[in-house]
Amino acid sequence: MRGAVIHAPGDVRFETLEDPKILKPTDAIIRTAVTCVCGSDLWPYRGLEPAQEAHPMGHEYVGFVEEVGGQVTAVRPGQFVVGSFATSDNTCANCRNGFQSSCLNREFMSTCQAEYVRIPNAQGTLVATGQVPDEELWPGLLAVSDVMGTGWYAADAAEVKPGSTAVVVGDGAVGLCAVIAAKEMGAERIIAMSRHEPRQRLAREFGATDIVTERGEEGIARIKELTGGIGADAVLECVGTAEAMRQALHSARPGGNVGFVGVPHEVAVDGQELFFSHVGLRGGPAPVRRYLPDLIDHVLSGRINPGKVFDLTLPLEQVAEGYQAMDERRAIKTLLKP
Ligand SMILES: [Zn+2]
Repeated sequence: MRGAVIHAPGDVRFETLEDPKILKPTDAIIRTAVTCVCGSDLWPYRGLEPAQEAHPMGHEYVGFVEEVGGQVTAVRPGQFVVGSFATSDNTCANCRNGFQSSCLNREFMSTCQAEYVRIPNAQGTLVATGQVPDEELWPGLLAVSDVMGTGWYAADAAEVKPGSTAVVVGDGAVGLCAVIAAKEMGAERIIAMSRHEPRQRLAREFGATDIVTERGEEGIARIKELTGGIGADAVLECVGTAEAMRQALHSARPGGNVGFVGVPHEVAVDGQELFFSHVGLRGGPAPVRRYLPDLIDHVLSGRINPGKVFDLTLPLEQVAEGYQAMDERRAIKTLLKP
C-alpha cells in the first residue's frame, strides 16, 4: 500500500509502505475511506518538534473494516467505522470515567494518511455506523474522529452552559468546531477570535455571534468590553501557543473556565496569577470516544456539518501539497481521498 511519510521539516512524501497486519487479537485493519491533514501535523512539518527518524503521518480516519483480530466482536468486515486519534479499550478505569484518551492501554494513531490502517484496541475504539453513510457525510464523520470531538471537549471542559457566553481562541478547524460545540451546548453569545475573513464567515455560519480580530492585550481588552468588563463564562483555547493560552486565561471571568485543547508548545502557566484569577482550567487530548456515538448521530441527522472545515480536497497521493497549503494558510484543512 501507499501512504505519507515525513522525512524532515517540509518534506512529506507519498511512498510505498508495508501493508498493515493484525499484530494483536485486539487489532483491526481498515481500508481508509477519507483521511486528512491536522493542524497538529504542522508542528513537525514546521520543525517545531524535536527531529525524528522518517515516520508515517496521520491520526484521523474513517474507513471500512477489512479484517479483525480474534478478540474483536464489536465491528465486522465491511462495516463503515469512525474512531479516534487516541485508541482505547473502553473498559479500564480511566475509560469508565470518560477519559478514554487516558486509557491505560492507549495507543495514539500515527499512520492514517495511508490506504490501509491498523487500529489497535479496535473493540473499544471503533464505532460502526448502521449502514454505509452517503459519501457526502464522510468529511463530517472524519471531523468527528478528531477536530469535532476535540472542539466538543473544549466546550465540555470549559463547561459551556445554556445562556452562557463563550470565547473561542483560534480559528483553525478545531476552533471552528468548538464554535459548533458551544452553540450545541446552548451558549447564547459566542465570540470567535479570528483575523481571517473566510474563517470568520465559517465561524458565523457555525453560530458565532461576534468576531474579535484584536490579539494580545487589545484582544483581552476587547473581550472584557464585550462581557460587562469581567470576561466570559467559558473560554475554549484551540491553538496551543503561549500567546493563545494567555489570551484564554485573561478572557475568562472569575469563576469561569478555560478548556484548552491546543497541544501546548512553550506554554507556561503562572500559578499565582491562576490562583488569584479564580479561573478553572482543564484540557488535554480529547476523550473523543466518549462523544463518538452522539456526534456520529449529530452528523448523520444533518444537525451539524463539521465537514465544512475541509476547504481543500486532494487525492491522497498529493498529500505533500495538502501540508503545504495548510502551512501557507491557503487551506483551513485538507481532505485526502485514497
Ligand atoms: Zn481504557
